[in-house]
Amino acid sequence: HPAAVARDLTKVYDIEGRRVTALDRVSLDIRRGHFTAIMGPSGSGKSTLMHCLAGLDSPSSGTAWIGEVNLTELSDRKLTLMRRDRIGFIFQAFHLLPALTVMENITLPMALAGKRPDPQWLTEVITALGLRDRLTHRPPQLSGGQQQRVACARALLNQPEIIFADEPTGNLDSRAAAEVLRLLQHAVHQLDQTIVMVTHDPVAASCTDHAVFLADGTVVDELQQPTRDRVL
Ligand code: ADP
Ligand code: ADP
Repeated sequence: HPAAVARDLTKVYDIEGRRVTALDRVSLDIRRGHFTAIMGPSGSGKSTLMHCLAGLDSPSSGTAWIGEVNLTELSDRKLTLMRRDRIGFIFQAFHLLPALTVMENITLPMALAGKRPDPQWLTEVITALGLRDRLTHRPPQLSGGQQQRVACARALLNQPEIIFADEPTGNLDSRAAAEVLRLLQHAVHQLDQTIVMVTHDPVAASCTDHAVFLADGTVVDELQQPTRDRVL
């Protein structure tokens, strides 16, 4: 099975009687162990596609799979468990828990799954993301960029089946962005992680091995670019 599949995904929004087709029969395979970029102009359907693939939104028609599971057939409860146990999110709306420390936040998904973090990977992720001196802080004490890096650490550490990232380099300076991209690449190439990233950033896109271009809710181009040998 591919890590995720979209088949004829269509999403129509109805805003006060006006119909907007955000996705128009999009079909796509996300291969396991690949780093995929979803690109395209604003309003082209990138977020809608990612939300449908990640089980955060349901399509009007068509099907989305994570592995062998057809998301469109799941109950809300099973969908919630699916997101919790098998999917990682690096999103602007971070969903960090304000009462927990940084360390507690990034290890929470693993604790919920009854897993222990690999100490070496934990150290590597925390160090590379510049969070070593922030582990006992709580999210409200951090800047937006720091919170973004905590969300990134949480997703990478847990090593879920698939990670969805929404503009993960969006509000980072170029040095922090390069660190995030280096870690995402490492996770894909060394740990066989599958990552799907919505991005506008050409540097970020150049780190991926599969780029999907959307326009007006359809896939207009796909590019396979082996980046196994490319390092930032
Ligand atoms: P992108 O992520 O590429 O900017 P989106 O997926 O956010 O594109 O949006 C695709 C289209 O769907 C746009 O025309 C947008 O206005 C519309 N859209 C997105 N979300 C909603 C919503 N919740 N309600 C109504 N229209 C929406
Ligand atoms: P709620 O119904 O509690 O608001 P949802 O699961 O419907 O939560 O998701 C709402 C938003 O929360 C999503 O758009 C996404 O940005 C974020 N989100 C959902 N699940 C996660 C998760 N596991 N990790 C991080 N962010 C998440």
